[in-house]
Amino acid sequence: MNPALRIRLLMELRRCGVSDTRVLAAIETVPRDLFVAEPFSDQAWDNAALPIGCGQTISQPLVVGLMTQALEITSRCKVLEVGTGSGYQTAVLCHLCRRVYTLERHRPLLAEAEARLRGLRLTNVVAMHGDGAKGWAAQAPFDRILLTASAAELPQGLLDQLAVGGVLVAPVDLPSGGQQVVRVRRSEAGFATEPLFPVRFVPLVSGLPPADAP
Ligand code: SAH
Repeated sequence: MNPALRIRLLMELRRCGVSDTRVLAAIETVPRDLFVAEPFSDQAWDNAALPIGCGQTISQPLVVGLMTQALEITSRCKVLEVGTGSGYQTAVLCHLCRRVYTLERHRPLLAEAEARLRGLRLTNVVAMHGDGAKGWAAQAPFDRILLTASAAELPQGLLDQLAVGGVLVAPVDLPSGGQQVVRVRRSEAGFATEPLFPVRFVPLVSGLPPADAP
């Protein structure tokens, strides 16, 4: 992969507000070209979302950068990701925290993502097929939760799985039709939500695709 394309992307992310050097280093390290299908590999280092099959997309690098930065991850964190997709965001998280738990409702995407993560020898990740709107109760609580699919409301089941002192970052649908990323902090006093920036994500769909149902 042409290193100039990588540097161009990193500079664009910095210009657009990604300033956390750990996040920038993780994005620089993860070979995005391995997470996109062959016809798109020449666009892998563009700041663009790309199709990954099953009607889903790999997120735009800027959105990955800004959302990961908003999570304020430390190396001790146990992180839940909802919407594995290509596994790209998962790989970025793996470089920043202790352990990642990731859920995907499309089996074929999950299988491909797992193969990529194994190929990169990222061993601090567990991936599971399931409805991420329900979270991963057996592994809760999580220090950080990241949703990469958008819903009108944050599922209460997920909020319940956030540790006290934890942070959740997710896109939510706005009544006006757009979406925005919000950050939710949980303290002893309850949940505090702040809006961060506008985005466009695929929807968070409850339940499993018919072909994937158990
Ligand atoms: N983070 C991914 C982005 C994938 S797009 C990447 O970097 O490639 C969002 C993903 O969320 C899609 O793969 C979609 O299938 C998945 N998704 C949507 N609703 C879901 C749900 N309820 N449970 C689990 N995964 C879900």
